Amino acid sequence: MIRSDILAAIGGTPLIRLKRASEETGCTILGKAEFMNPGQSVKDRAALFMVEAAERAGTLRPGGTIVEGTAGNTGIGLALVGAARGYRTVIVIPDTQSAEKKQALRLAGADLVEVPAVPFANPNNYVKVAGRLAARLSATEPGGAFFADQFDNLANREAHIATTGPEIWEATGGKVDGFICAAGTGGTLAGTAAALRARNPGVTIGLADPDGSALHPYYATGELKAAGTSITEGIGQGRITGNLEGFRPDVSFGIPDAEALPLVFGLLEEEGLCLGGSSGINVAGAIRLARRLGPGHTVVTILCDYGTRYASKLFDPGFLRARDLPVPHWLDAPRTIDP
Ligand code: PMP
Repeated sequence: MIRSDILAAIGGTPLIRLKRASEETGCTILGKAEFMNPGQSVKDRAALFMVEAAERAGTLRPGGTIVEGTAGNTGIGLALVGAARGYRTVIVIPDTQSAEKKQALRLAGADLVEVPAVPFANPNNYVKVAGRLAARLSATEPGGAFFADQFDNLANREAHIATTGPEIWEATGGKVDGFICAAGTGGTLAGTAAALRARNPGVTIGLADPDGSALHPYYATGELKAAGTSITEGIGQGRITGNLEGFRPDVSFGIPDAEALPLVFGLLEEEGLCLGGSSGINVAGAIRLARRLGPGHTVVTILCDYGTRYASKLFDPGFLRARDLPVPHWLDAPRTIDP
C-alpha cells in the first residue's frame, strides 16, 4: 500500500487478541497496537490533529516553531509531524523521563529543553515552562511559535473521537462491551469513550489509573488526591485537564505497578508483545473490567507504546530490584549458549 507521506501512515492500527488475558477471564480482550504508529506511540494521532487544527486556525504558519511540554511520546509525534510539514520543534521534558525517549526525540529532530520534574502548581513545571517559551519564541522566531498544549487542546481528544474510537468500532463490528485505558492528558480515554458511547450508549468505559495519580480517587470519592508512585511514564494526572472535562468513566480502578509489570513481562515472554509500562496498567485494567463484566464479553484497551523505549528502566533488573519490583527470571539471568 502506498501512502502519500509518513503522516498518512498514522492510525489504522490492528487490534490484537491478548491470549492469556482472554483465556483467564473467559472474555475476548483486545489490545489496539498503537506502538505500530510511525512514532511508535498512541500520541502520533494527537500530534497530527493538533498541528492540523493549528494550521487551519492560522496559529501555526509556514516556517513556524512547534513548542510543547511532554513526557516524550507527544514530542516524538510532533517532531515527526513537524519534520514532514517543515516546522521546527522545541520540546520541554521533565528530567525523570527515560533516556531512550530523549534520544528518540533528538533523532526525530526536536530541540530538547530538560527541566526538573515539579508538580503542575509550581511555575517551573514543564508544561508552564513550555507555555512561556512558546510566548517568547512567537515574538522572536521569524515564522512565529505555536504552543501545542496537549492537556487542554481539544484537538487531542478530537483525534480519538475521529479515528481511534471508530477504528475500534469497525474492527469489532460493533461488538465491544467495554473499553478501558489510563489517562495522561485524557485525550485517548475521553475521545475513544465519546466515539464508542455515541455508537452504543451501553458500552462500559473504565479508567485504569496508576498509583500516584489523583484520577481514580477523584472518580471514586470526589476528591482529587494522589497517593503512592509508579514507574510508568506518560500516565496519571493530578487535575481534570481540558480533555477530561465533561467526561466520566463508568468504573475506575487504581492499579499498582506490582500488578501491571508482571503482565508486561508475560506479554513479552509468552506473546511476543514488547510494551511500555502504561500498556501494563491498561491490560491490568482490561482484566479487571472483564472480570467485572463476566465471561463472554469483549473488552478493548490500548497498547500505548513500544517497550524498547524503556530498556534502561522497566527492563533493567537493577532498576526494578532497587524499587522492590518483580524481576522476570529471563531478564535476570539470560540463558547463555555456547557458539
Ligand atoms: N501511555 C504513554 C506511554 C503515553 O506517553 C501517554 C501520553 N502521555 C499515554 C499513555 C496517555 O495518553 P493520553 O495523553 O491520551 O491520556
